[in-house]
Amino acid sequence: MNCVVLDRDGTLIRHIPYLHDPSQVEVLPTVVAGITKLVQSGYKLFLHTNQSGIGRGYFSHADAIACNEELLKQIGLGHTLFEDVCVCPESPGQDALYRKPSPQYGLAIIEKYAIRKNNMCYMGDNVTDLLTAKNIGCMGVGVNTGVHDLREKLQELDMEKYFPVFDGFLDAVNYILYEFHL
Ligand SMILES: [Mg+2]
Repeated sequence: MNCVVLDRDGTLIRHIPYLHDPSQVEVLPTVVAGITKLVQSGYKLFLHTNQSGIGRGYFSHADAIACNEELLKQIGLGHTLFEDVCVCPESPGQDALYRKPSPQYGLAIIEKYAIRKNNMCYMGDNVTDLLTAKNIGCMGVGVNTGVHDLREKLQELDMEKYFPVFDGFLDAVNYILYEFHL
């Protein structure tokens, strides 16, 4: 079984710092096409999102879930699109089991669903998403659709040769499906 673990903010939806209002959820261009393609190709999808705004007391877990629901509604492929969802409420510095770049959530998926590391890909707009892939030992693909210049950040960390970065979601999906062959 192949799976893609998706970041939410800046990857699937427009990045808004500490987003907590479902009316501000806006799915990014080509996301619906890319997700549809992954589903049609038999990929299992997971959502892994750091939401430190919960730990900082800016908004509630329920607010984060409401935004996830709006995301699912806009994608339009049903409520069971994601095999599982992990919302990490901790702020940096707080004890955290699953907060990216921790590999623990990915490793838990690998165990629970009997997935091989070679068949897992993390996708995100932040260095943290790709560091998570590195820590798991799985593939990582970047999308430069968030706030920061992901390519520059990867260069700073000397990681650019390990993780391809694409300007659009569908381009990243096509790479996973047709070039990398998970
Ligand atoms: Mg992000």
